[in-house]
Amino acid sequence: MIRVEDLHRHFGGFRAVDGASLSIETGSITGLIGPNGAGKSTLFNVVAGVLPPTSGRVFMDDEEITGLPPHELFHRGLLRTFQLAHEFASMTVRENLMMVPGQQTGETIWSTWLRRGQIEREELELRKKADEVLEFLTIRHLAHERAGNLSGGQKKLLELGRTMMVDAKVVFLDEVGAGVNRTLLGTIGDAIVRLNKERGYTFCVIEHDMDFIAKLCDPVIVMAEGKVLATGASDEIMQNEAVIEAYLGT
Ligand code: ADP
Ligand code: MG
Repeated sequence: MIRVEDLHRHFGGFRAVDGASLSIETGSITGLIGPNGAGKSTLFNVVAGVLPPTSGRVFMDDEEITGLPPHELFHRGLLRTFQLAHEFASMTVRENLMMVPGQQTGETIWSTWLRRGQIEREELELRKKADEVLEFLTIRHLAHERAGNLSGGQKKLLELGRTMMVDAKVVFLDEVGAGVNRTLLGTIGDAIVRLNKERGYTFCVIEHDMDFIAKLCDPVIVMAEGKVLATGASDEIMQNEAVIEAYLGT
């Protein structure tokens, strides 16, 4: 589904991503691991159109998507989750879900007035969809909670929920488990597996918790110093000498 070819992203003279090539197969939950500073988040940001690459190419379903802006990629079903933006913290969980871009019809005051009925119907539909998403994620009881009051793990579930409000094809999750307790991490893992099995989402997941990665991901891609070191099943990866050395070296 996604192919990254010889990708470079430099900051000044520093090579954060230094000739990385990798593939994410359709239908997979692919893990991306590596020591801090390996270039994982930078690679995500380039693939998701947040940062332009210094050089290299990115393909989605064999079509080149290098350098396309995030909204264009969003339109194609490529989503990267972000930490909750500040301005959304005071809105409720359900309102946050209903804020997904590209769904509302009303562009001008005039057309809004003309199409009031349609807009009301769309709003009702959005609300229904948001409630289904909350149900799926087992957080229906949080619908009216302010997003800013959620725990770290609940915020991660909300981020995942926002990808479910649109027809996502491939979702990039950066450190899904960071600061999340065991129980919620389990819930997040279950939601990822269900989205993969039931809705056909492809995932690429950056996470430091190796138990989480081993349980969820196949294959696992290991990055170090801006390059891909190894790709394989999680048990193979853990025995790979170059990988062990990269982790010990930091
Ligand atoms: P990872 O996610 O694997 O921990 P990052 O992609 O965040 O690694 O960072 C890779 C390297 O690039 C780090 O050394 C980081 O300091 C550097 N880096 C990331 N973003 C920037 C930036 N905007 N400006 C300068 N250096 C950056
Ligand atoms: Mg990172």
